[in-house]
Amino acid sequence: MGPWIGWVASRSENVAMALGEFDLITRYFERPARRATLGIGDDCALFAPAPGMQVATSCDMLVEGRHFLSTVAPDRLGHKALAVNLSDLAACGAEPLAFTLALALPRADEVFLEGFSRGLLALADVHGCELIGGDTTQGPLNICISVFGQVPTMTTATSHGALLRSGARAGDDLYVSGVLGDARLALEVFRGTLSLEGHDFHLVRDAMELPQPRVALGLALRGVASSAIDVSDGLLGDLNHVLKRSGVDALVEVDALPRSAVLRSQPLALQRLCALSGGDDYELLFTAAPDRAARVAAAGASTGLLVTRIGRIVPRPESATGPHAQLVDAEARPVAHRHASFDHFRA
Ligand code: ADP
Ligand code: MG
Repeated sequence: MGPWIGWVASRSENVAMALGEFDLITRYFERPARRATLGIGDDCALFAPAPGMQVATSCDMLVEGRHFLSTVAPDRLGHKALAVNLSDLAACGAEPLAFTLALALPRADEVFLEGFSRGLLALADVHGCELIGGDTTQGPLNICISVFGQVPTMTTATSHGALLRSGARAGDDLYVSGVLGDARLALEVFRGTLSLEGHDFHLVRDAMELPQPRVALGLALRGVASSAIDVSDGLLGDLNHVLKRSGVDALVEVDALPRSAVLRSQPLALQRLCALSGGDDYELLFTAAPDRAARVAAAGASTGLLVTRIGRIVPRPESATGPHAQLVDAEARPVAHRHASFDHFRA
């Protein structure tokens, strides 16, 4: 859309070459439509959900410096840009169908575009999610993806509708997939507040740069979980969204929070901080009635994911003014989560 700067300097060879907007799209992003009726190339793309399904859609923007470091490898950036969007579909129990990509680039850097499109489209293929359109413009690096999935319109004997934040009920168990806090550990290494030995750093860096959206788990939890959300801003913050929309409170067992061996080798306060408030985890946080425990375990087993019970949902006292997540240790003693130290840590 609109005028495009036609002169481009290749980052590796520093050779000026002409690459127009449409050549760029054709070369790096356009592929034959598969599920969509019409993909890239016309004014609109066309696609339809299957009969009995409705479209689930979500949009996430990634801004350089805010959501990713300028030094990240382009293929990892492409992966992550789509992964964070697919994670939203996963949290709703939606099956991915298609996505659009709005891209602002300082210049048509072919080294960047080759890596970015490769990482992006490789993850798209893993999840059968087609790139059906977008927009490309010159500007500060900014990536905005809208993703479309499908979920049954209603719950019947054989199908179950979308997972929502609003369905948690007192008595439900609280679960999370995978491990928490590694991405935050990596961020702190980049920020220089922490150092890790090479192999450990690679592990947590992969957690930060190559999150795996839990799409299969989201699908398996339809009809099993009572509510779900993906953990993008930190466990406590995202749990709060569920509690707010569901009108309930929670007890969280901090010692039960799933942590990697790398995080477990850190001081306990840092472990708790990263697991509770780290951010960028892209795991699923969900609730389920206690009589669903075996089905929750089966959903974890069938998707090859660790699923850990980390607490339970409790009624909200009538006097309460807002949601509250009480942290307790293994002996059920209250644990203070000091946001002050968290702020200091971030500084
Ligand atoms: P229009 O001006 O009609 O909005 P454009 O000229 O911007 O269309 O884009 C031409 C085609 O290329 C459209 O089908 C559009 O969806 C697609 N497109 C543009 N940028 C991208 C991109 N970054 N990724 C995928 N498709 C894109
Ligand atoms: Mg048009």
